Amino acid sequence: MPETGARAARDFDIFIIGGGINGCGIARDAVGRGYSVGLAEMNDLASGTSSGSTKLIHGGLRYLEHYEFRLVREALMEREVLWRNAPHIIWPMRFVLPINKGLRPAWLVRLGLFLYDHIGGRKLLPKTRTLDMRSDPAGKPLKGNYRRAFEYSDCWVNDARFVVLNARDAAERGASIRTRTRVTAARREGTSWLIDLEDLRSGTVETVRARYLVNAAGPWVDHVISGVLGRNDVHNVRLVQGSHIVIRRKFDDPRAYFFQNADGRIIFAIPYEDDFTLIGTTDRDYKDDPKDVAITDEETDYLCASASEYFAEPVRREDIVWSYSGVRPLFDDGASKAQEATRDYVLKTEEADGEAPMLHVFGGKITTYRKLAESALAKIEDALGAKGGPWTHEGALPGGDFPFDAYEGEVTDLGQDYPFLEAGFAARLVRLYGTRARKILGNALSIEDLGRHFGKDLYEAELRYLVAQEWAVTGADVLWRRTKRGLHLNAEETAAVDAFMRELAVASH
Ligand SMILES: Cc1cc2nc3c(=O)[nH]c(=O)nc-3n(C[C@H](O)[C@H](O)[C@H](O)COP(=O)(O)OP(=O)(O)OC[C@H]3O[C@@H](n4cnc5c(N)ncnc54)[C@H](O)[C@@H]3O)c2cc1C
Repeated sequence: MPETGARAARDFDIFIIGGGINGCGIARDAVGRGYSVGLAEMNDLASGTSSGSTKLIHGGLRYLEHYEFRLVREALMEREVLWRNAPHIIWPMRFVLPINKGLRPAWLVRLGLFLYDHIGGRKLLPKTRTLDMRSDPAGKPLKGNYRRAFEYSDCWVNDARFVVLNARDAAERGASIRTRTRVTAARREGTSWLIDLEDLRSGTVETVRARYLVNAAGPWVDHVISGVLGRNDVHNVRLVQGSHIVIRRKFDDPRAYFFQNADGRIIFAIPYEDDFTLIGTTDRDYKDDPKDVAITDEETDYLCASASEYFAEPVRREDIVWSYSGVRPLFDDGASKAQEATRDYVLKTEEADGEAPMLHVFGGKITTYRKLAESALAKIEDALGAKGGPWTHEGALPGGDFPFDAYEGEVTDLGQDYPFLEAGFAARLVRLYGTRARKILGNALSIEDLGRHFGKDLYEAELRYLVAQEWAVTGADVLWRRTKRGLHLNAEETAAVDAFMRELAVASH
């Protein structure tokens, strides 16, 4: 039986349902202001939409066509803020947008890019330039009919790690972050919430108390309102599936491509994990349980066909080495097409005199998570009384405490301090862990000191760090979210990682 209110195990100012980017971003901001914070994630951190994105910190050039100026401006302004906060997992990327006759005219694209360069307070990222595709190396892997392209800036982010680093920072500031813990019910008792939590690993159930409840359950946000709060007829979000395919490296250029399609949609082809190219995404309405989302045959064919319109060598099904899908929890604004539904976030509060307040988060982008958290905190402060005020625009995320342009220097320093590391391994460790790579390497004097070897550059020391510091429990947590080593290891090697993680889980639970 869940504990009742009087015997509640813990009291929080704020309790958050959902360990995606929005839940973890709100938790970090709130605890940094001085509130006591609890968060429950029913699966792994970032196991929902937040690891299934295109991984861009971007203004969203396409949203200009839908007149989403507020969103685009806020997102553009966030690019350089977030890059400074986390220069290990976020870095600038240039995008090549070939002009395709019969689609959007060059002057319109140039106008959009002019706005893109000027409305978002860009200071560090280079501006747009025009390319002659007959001489620029970016034209080489494409068909010969593209003469002109524009090259513009956005940023890349390791989305799953972004979530975990927000959670890590929140925890270090005092938040209680529980993974594999489902919120099964929440009810008001005067000015408090009583929240039932089920630990999905041990089966234990407990009740905690909070003054404020936040529903940041992403695509499950309506499930929380119906299943956890017990309300009927809940239809706030439009679930829109988006899928990506990963193929072996299609081109050597470090720039990404932005391809326009005849149907008005666009796809990206992005250099990915050194040896691969990431292609996506799609937009289709989704009706089933978000946890079951998987790429459809139709989406696979669409992505292969769209990319093949541009690349000289077609992209075939047999080239695909991995794919992933996510579900966008878009606020339902009644748009007719999935691709037209607003990408902006909407925050709705429930506040009545004498009743415990609550906030629901609908929509949002990874790019705008920090601003979303600030808006959420403004509402929370209204209800609970002001605390510290906004602070996250300058706070480095764990491992990101080095200058935004010093990544290469960090890699060199790590290589000097640990001369047994191969250059690629040192570069990978700094990309994933920044200055905290040293916590993994510790006193190691040779590669053998990193413990058991699982294939390529994956060693026991990294897995142990991920368990101890980053809530990793299963093989999938470490192979597909904390790292993408799953792409680089063979089946036997990934099976060994799975088995080792099971051993560690048994030992620790
Ligand atoms: C295909 C695609 C491409 C995208 N590309 C980009 C991009 O390039 N750039 C960008 O900025 N944005 C992008 N986005 C948008 C972005 O990924 C999402 O807006 C964002 O990840 C949503 O985060 P969230 O925290 O709201 O949801 P989620 O990440 O889904 O987190 C919600 C969490 O709540 C948990 N949960 C649900 N119910 C319960 C419960 N009862 N108890 C405990 N836990 C619960 C879930 O397990 C889940 O982990 C993309 C989205 C998609 C789908």
